[in-house]
Amino acid sequence: KVNLVWLRNDLRIDDNSALYHAAQDKNCAVFALYFVCQKQWQEHWVGSNQQALIFAALSELKQQLRKLNIPLLILDAGHFSQVPELMQQVVTQLKVDDCYFNREILLNERERDKQVYNRLKDQVKFHSYNDQTLISPHKIVTKEQQGYKVFSDFARAVKSYLADYPLQNFSSPKAKEKSNFNFFDFTQLAEQQFVIDKASIIKKEHTVFSAPSLPEINEKKIHQQLERFCKSALSDYAEQRDYPAISGTSALSAALAVGSLSIKRCYTLAKQSVNERQSQTWINELIWRDFYRSVAWHFPHVVKGHAFNPVDKQLTWSNNTEHFAAWKNAQTGIPIIDAAITQLRQTGWMHNRLRMIVASYLTKNLWIDWREGERFFAEHLFDYDFASNNGGWQWCASVGTDAAPYFRVFNPASQQQKFDPDTSFIKQWLPALKAQPAKNIHKFETLSLPNYPSPQVNLKATRQQAIEAFKQAKG
Ligand code: FAD
Repeated sequence: KVNLVWLRNDLRIDDNSALYHAAQDKNCAVFALYFVCQKQWQEHWVGSNQQALIFAALSELKQQLRKLNIPLLILDAGHFSQVPELMQQVVTQLKVDDCYFNREILLNERERDKQVYNRLKDQVKFHSYNDQTLISPHKIVTKEQQGYKVFSDFARAVKSYLADYPLQNFSSPKAKEKSNFNFFDFTQLAEQQFVIDKASIIKKEHTVFSAPSLPEINEKKIHQQLERFCKSALSDYAEQRDYPAISGTSALSAALAVGSLSIKRCYTLAKQSVNERQSQTWINELIWRDFYRSVAWHFPHVVKGHAFNPVDKQLTWSNNTEHFAAWKNAQTGIPIIDAAITQLRQTGWMHNRLRMIVASYLTKNLWIDWREGERFFAEHLFDYDFASNNGGWQWCASVGTDAAPYFRVFNPASQQQKFDPDTSFIKQWLPALKAQPAKNIHKFETLSLPNYPSPQVNLKATRQQAIEAFKQAKG
């Protein structure tokens, strides 16, 4: 018998439900398959940073699977629309009996899976699992059988569900017989393997920012990182997570985004490492991740470029390209914003507190469409994740579920004083301000320097304008 594991957003051997189940039967040959879909990724705004990370994760995974005698076939499909045809070829040539995969949540992915299923259901037996979230989105619903719109209610429902149905983690499967590999070597498909060329997809942009290096993608090292975090930083997470100068968060988002780390593994280890009170804040962040996936599942209009809240349709955003360019190039004259954007461009990651500050400034003070910021983040983040990014942007722009109320506009000046009081984070990323005392940096409106811009807009006036515009839009 031949079992196929169709890998997607789950590039790991540990706690991978589909892989684990496919490899259980000792007498089966098992092999894994991944379709590279760069045209589709472009349509989904996946930037060169994350693309490079996916290729690195694939090459790492191929080696790990080889140790288990499970060959990984990487095929270039280009676009989701090509996947059913290619899958048909794979199934026919390798004489696949059963196909195992972990379910995806977003629309295009689900549509692709439906097409593959419809085409092959008479030929192959499919087995699917929930692996992307702590709990399947369809299981957490209100009394009216609808998706939750408020995070706190959703989180309560998730916790209560998990108390009744504890998570199950699956360790890496045992190695298969060597013959599994030999069988595979005879197939013609093995010769069409996709050539992984990381260098060619890293965009050669002319920019003042240095190119970011790839985050850790080796599964063993990622687990060590998770264990270290749970042992040392988790108990202080609630106090430290908002200070960008401190490494107070896990920095595991990139591994989670491409599936090199299991979200269920994170939850289980956090629970085992510290007491309930100490793990609560971090666990809530993991649940935010589930929440935004649940929103995308139950309210799919958010996946099609629309805000959750129809008020968005009544807002006329500014098309000031100069303002937007200054924001993207860390030239706003507001130190915490420019430092945050520099961190993003030079590392491919940005601290959560800063994501909120820069998103609020772009949408409320510069009045630029949140979709522009969403896309810019997608292009640069290693951890780009449609649901979390979309949800985060809509929250900041006050157009999402459970969003920040429109009249509560972040003040970047007070945010910077509160969360980077000694300006060490700002100085780390903005050499032009290195020699300035912190008090001058906090009074950036009066700062006049030859190599650092003055603020683009008046914060107070633009805040007021945004509130007025929302008031009018809401009628
Ligand atoms: P930790 O604080 O250690 O949290 C652990 C994990 O929980 C994270 O790795 C992440 O998977 C999840 N998580 C934490 N906070 C959130 C949150 N608010 N929403 C959803 N999941 C969360 N996160 C992404 O993974 N990809 C994105 O594209 C993304 N875009 C964002 C855009 C905006 C405007 C905002 C405000 C937030 C965005 N986030 C996104 C959420 C959050 O900023 C990052 O998950 C977090 O900064 C990652 O760092 P960490 O791994 O150290 O997080």
